[in-house]
Amino acid sequence: MIHVRNLSKHFGDLVVLKDVSVDISKGEVISVIGPSGTGKSTFLRCLNLLETPTGGSIEIDGIPLLAKGTHVPKVRQKMGMVFQSFNLYHHLTAIENLTIGPIRLLGRNKADAQKKGMELLKLVGLGKKADSFPDELSGGQQQRVAIARCMAMDPEILLFDEPTSALDPTMVSEVLAVIRRLVREGMTMVIVTHEMEFARNISRRVFYMDEGIIYEEGTPVQVFDNPQKEKTRAFIHRIRSLEQRITGTDYDLYALQAEMEAFCDKHMLPKKVTGHVVHMAEELLLLQRDFTNIRLSLSYSEKDGSLAIGCESAGAPRNPLEEGSEEDEIAIRLIKARCSATEYRYEDGKNVLMLRMKGE
Ligand code: ADP
Ligand code: MG
Repeated sequence: MIHVRNLSKHFGDLVVLKDVSVDISKGEVISVIGPSGTGKSTFLRCLNLLETPTGGSIEIDGIPLLAKGTHVPKVRQKMGMVFQSFNLYHHLTAIENLTIGPIRLLGRNKADAQKKGMELLKLVGLGKKADSFPDELSGGQQQRVAIARCMAMDPEILLFDEPTSALDPTMVSEVLAVIRRLVREGMTMVIVTHEMEFARNISRRVFYMDEGIIYEEGTPVQVFDNPQKEKTRAFIHRIRSLEQRITGTDYDLYALQAEMEAFCDKHMLPKKVTGHVVHMAEELLLLQRDFTNIRLSLSYSEKDGSLAIGCESAGAPRNPLEEGSEEDEIAIRLIKARCSATEYRYEDGKNVLMLRMKGE
């Protein structure tokens, strides 16, 4: 139904979309996730030509959108877009919001538009609010009217840009329920969302956007439970990390430890855990031989509370947990006792050690 090839979008020097290629079939529901600023909105806006892409091609039902001579408003009608901020006409009632487009743009007669409009308001659970103005409705109700308004134009595909992120938390579920209803009706939809559980439950495919591309895609199970790439994993697990560098033997251990403590405090880790982290880092440094270029990292998953300490160091291959001197024995034993797993590999001329700490 939709073929996107090598889509790019630059704003001056800023390259937001680098190279996006996707195919979307009729009836598919796709969730788009990713950190903010990675071009998710720009991608949707390019799809329905609210932005003019810099390069690439978009084809909808065989019609090349970017070719000269394509009647853009007509193609755009195939797509409805629901925005974060509802965007209803405030001087019109709910039902008028739904009928104005069909009457003016599709040439419907008023009675038909009215009838269809009422059906749609009922579909989103607002049959009784037909004569209310947007300001008399809650945020969740306004967004449901906005969805119904899109449907009134008989779109073939619906694009949602974070439809619940401007809502009070108590109103999120009513809007998600309406979207779920549309899924059951077989609507083709692309939904940018931060609601991970929702994305997991309703979509057939999930796109993770980063670095101007669809960085990883797959079924919800693949992307949420078994992401293949580091950045996807970090996003899914809401990983927060601290990175520290050491470039010589004269490093300031106390400053390093203080920074780690501050990181742990910021993420409200228990004092005991903080103590373990700081202690482990010290033991880990005791085992190092080459201090010319050490990168220490501490990562904390907000999703499951897990903590990991990573250490990359230059030099010949040497796993500090296996090839220590006798004096290293105590440090090694201490580290192993506090870890649920340790991983070592030699990569790009660096010894990479990853310690996963045991939970409490
Ligand atoms: P997301 O929706 O993933 O948060 P956006 O697509 O809104 O990301 O924005 C991606 C980047 O493009 C951001 O850095 C944003 O500032 C920039 N951007 C978006 N729209 C414009 C615009 N009209 N002009 C200039 N920069 C823009
Ligand atoms: Mg956005």
